[in-house]
Amino acid sequence: KLAKQQAVRYLFFNQTMSSQVAQKLDMEHKLRRAIEQAEFRLYYQPKVCLQTGTIIGMEALIRWQSPELGLVAPFHFIPLLEETGLILEVGNWVLQQAILDLQEWKRQGLVPPRVAINLSALQLRQQHFVQHIEQMLQESPEAALLDFELTESVVIADVADSQRKLGALRALGLPIAIDDFGTGYSSLSYIARLPLDTLKIDRSFVVKMTENHADRMIVSTIITMAHNMNLNVVAEGVDSTEQLALLRELKCNQMQGYLFSKPVPAQDICSLLQQGTRLEL
Ligand code: C2E
Ligand code: MG
Ligand code: MG
Ligand code: MG
Repeated sequence: KLAKQQAVRYLFFNQTMSSQVAQKLDMEHKLRRAIEQAEFRLYYQPKVCLQTGTIIGMEALIRWQSPELGLVAPFHFIPLLEETGLILEVGNWVLQQAILDLQEWKRQGLVPPRVAINLSALQLRQQHFVQHIEQMLQESPEAALLDFELTESVVIADVADSQRKLGALRALGLPIAIDDFGTGYSSLSYIARLPLDTLKIDRSFVVKMTENHADRMIVSTIITMAHNMNLNVVAEGVDSTEQLALLRELKCNQMQGYLFSKPVPAQDICSLLQQGTRLEL
C-alpha cells in the first residue's frame, strides 16, 4: 500500500513539475520569438529635480508587446531572460534602442537629458562589457548621455569586478546609480567603497514614509548618508504631494514617480520635453 501511495505521489509530483517545466519552456519559446519579431518596446519615465521642478533625466524601462499576452511588464519576463541568458541579447537591444531614441529626439531639435539603463548581473559580468560601451561611444556620441542603474545584489556578487568596471564606466563619463537602495542585504562597507554617483531609494520606503515612522526614518537616513558620501539621491515611486513635500523637506535631490509621470513611449517623452513640463513644487 505504501508503495502505491508513494507511486501516486511521485506521479502527481512529476505531473505538476512537468507542467511547470512545460509552461516555462513555452514562455521561453515566446520570448525567443519576441526577440526575432522585435516585440520589445522601450518606455521612459522622467526624473525630476526637486529644486527646480524640471526634468533632469529619464529611466528606460522595457515592455513586451506580445501578440497573445498584450503589453507585459518586466516583472513577468526579466527573470526568465536572466535565467536563460537571453538578457544579454535583450540588454543590447535596450542600449541600441535608447541611443536611437536619443538620436531621434535630437533630430527633432530637443536637448534630451541623460537616459538611465538598468543592467542585469550577466551584462555587467561580461568580460568585455566596458569595451562594448566604449565602442558604442565611438560609434554614436549620444551614448555619452547614458547612465546605469544596478541593484545592490548585482554589484555585491563580485565586488572587485564591480569596482573595476564601474570605475572604468565612470572614467568614460557615464554615471552609476544603485537601484532599489535599502532592499538588499549588502554591507554598507562594500557599497561605500564602490565608485558611484547616485542612490535610488526604493519605492517601498517612499510609499509608506508619510504614515510610518520607521520608513520615514529610513528615507531620511539614506538621504543624509548619501549626502555625506557625496552622492545624489533619487526617490522612486513618488505618487502623492505629501510624499513630495516630505522629500523636499529632507533635501532629497530628485524624484521619479506617477505624481509627475508614468513610464511612457518615446514620442510622449518628446512632448513632455517640448512643452518644458514642470513639476509644481
Ligand atoms: P526599477 O528599475 O526599480 O524601475 C522602477 C519601477 O517602478 C518601474 O516598474 C516603474 O514603472 C515603477 N514605478 C515608478 N514610479 C512609480 C509609482 O509612482 N508607482 C508605482 N506603483 N510604480 C512606479 P517597471 O517598469 O515595471 O520595471 C520593473 C523593474 O524591471 C525595474 O525596476 C527594473 O529592475 C526591471 N527592468 C525594467 N527595464 C529593464 C531593462 O531594460 N533591463 C533590465 N535588466 N531590467 C529592467
Ligand atoms: Mg531602475
Ligand atoms: Mg528602482
Ligand atoms: Mg524598483
